[in-house]
Amino acid sequence: MKALTWQGKRAVRVENVPDPRIKEPTDAVVRITSTNICGSDLHLYEVLGAFLEPGDILGHEPMGIVEEVGPEAAEHLRPGDRVVVPFTISCGRCWMCQRRLYAQCETTQVRAHGKGAALFGYTKLYGQVPGGQAEYLRVPQAHFGPIKVPEGPPDDRFVYLSDILPTAWQAVVWADIPKGGSVAVHGLGPVGQFCTRIAKHLGAERVFGIDLVPERLETARKHGVEVIDLRSVRDVPGYLRQITGGRGPDSVIDAVGMESHGSPVARLGQQVASMLPGTIGAPVAEKFGIDRLHALNDAISAVRRGGTVSVVGVYGGAVDPMPMLQMFDKGIQLRMGQCHVKRWVDDIMPLLLDDADPLDTEGYATHHLPLEQAPHGYEIFQKKLDGCQKVVLRT
Ligand code: NAD
Ligand code: ZN
Ligand code: ZN
Repeated sequence: MKALTWQGKRAVRVENVPDPRIKEPTDAVVRITSTNICGSDLHLYEVLGAFLEPGDILGHEPMGIVEEVGPEAAEHLRPGDRVVVPFTISCGRCWMCQRRLYAQCETTQVRAHGKGAALFGYTKLYGQVPGGQAEYLRVPQAHFGPIKVPEGPPDDRFVYLSDILPTAWQAVVWADIPKGGSVAVHGLGPVGQFCTRIAKHLGAERVFGIDLVPERLETARKHGVEVIDLRSVRDVPGYLRQITGGRGPDSVIDAVGMESHGSPVARLGQQVASMLPGTIGAPVAEKFGIDRLHALNDAISAVRRGGTVSVVGVYGGAVDPMPMLQMFDKGIQLRMGQCHVKRWVDDIMPLLLDDADPLDTEGYATHHLPLEQAPHGYEIFQKKLDGCQKVVLRT
């Protein structure tokens, strides 16, 4: 089969690789029909190369048709079922899964590195499970994971259930926005855009969106977001306070992560990333002149006293001396983490089955490309070229 493989920093290639097979009785094999490129793929593409091997198959936002089912997954799935595959791999049975903390599944967790649940396409960083930017995918824990969706609407209606829709839903729930309250979303990439729409749907009165890419600001503006352009507003927290009666928004979501514009990680790239997972503490941070991660510090500074910061963007290591005095003095809550995808499916599904498509999922992707053109997709998504906001690959 064909699959998108990592070859080096900013170098990915579509190659012929062996077809995946059932290995465990709980496995299934899914023939992929649509599979997205995610901001999380860009971390692998740009800064996390030290942890990858050439040939690693990337991708964690796939959907398709079940081709083959292991005996222990047969009660849940049949060949021919149309499914979306969550990016976190969970068993549904362990202590964590019983508490719906699926991203911490103890059956699939990556013990060697003290990490949470295994993830598709996240290389040895998260369990070395080959990814879904491919024609076929072996799905472990298929008795629990895959989400069945009906025939009818196009793939674009459902494919974001694999990651960014439940991720954004969780970010908004974690943000704990009071009814009629306000939220600022830093980063209007695919995750941040859904955060703004879901926040409105769940009752936020004022939704602010911060980015520096004109098309992304424009998309948000069209959906009723009060946008703030980083290129012209230098002191975003100060500006947010000014337009919220001096207090700041009730809640703030960081939907940017470690490659935040202006952050030292973005500048130092692989050099710093190669030292990440847990090994790089404040002294090393100082050595590299790291004092702030732009979006996260802005979020902490902007949120009102007693408010909540929800961090959905991915951070890779202990590179950031957190402003603890400010956090303590303001009495803020901080929530974060990988998405517990299946926890939110029942909340989201009615919106996807609504003919009016209230989250505008079908209009979400700016680019549909054949899998063969995935390298081009990575380039335009990373560099924000050609108005690119989300790429769906078709196989
Ligand atoms: P993306 O890279 O397309 O979006 C990030 C956006 O942030 C871009 O539009 C960029 O212009 C903007 N930005 C950069 N610096 C900024 C700053 N200082 N202030 C405000 N905006 C800034 O990525 P995405 O697909 O939207 O993903 C966003 C983040 O969410 C990534 O870090 C990704 O890894 C993470 N993510 C987390 C989970 C989870 O389970 N927690 C799941 C999916 C994605
Ligand atoms: Zn993703
Ligand atoms: Zn589990």
